[in-house]
Amino acid sequence: MPLKIKIFVWQLLHDRMPSETEVLKRHGPGNGSCPLCHILETGTHILFSYVAAQALWCFVREALGPEWEAHDLAEFLQIRATQVGPLASTR
Ligand SMILES: [Zn+2]
Repeated sequence: MPLKIKIFVWQLLHDRMPSETEVLKRHGPGNGSCPLCHILETGTHILFSYVAAQALWCFVREALGPEWEAHDLAEFLQIRATQVGPLASTR
């Protein structure tokens, strides 16, 4: 797996994506809110609740099926863990 993908997954799993919230924690510019939605911008917001992300997930569900419905990372991982991987093949 490419290093940049590993880094992205690590950031995602540890809620360390360079969101406005993380920038604010490091005393960077901004107030921690999404400049478009004006709500707290977290990794979950960027990947799941932001309107563009929801549109993208719509396309994913359209292409791969309704079982790809997820509202946050924990739910997404829970669904994927029960549907794919070595455990699924042993059932
Ligand atoms: Zn937003």
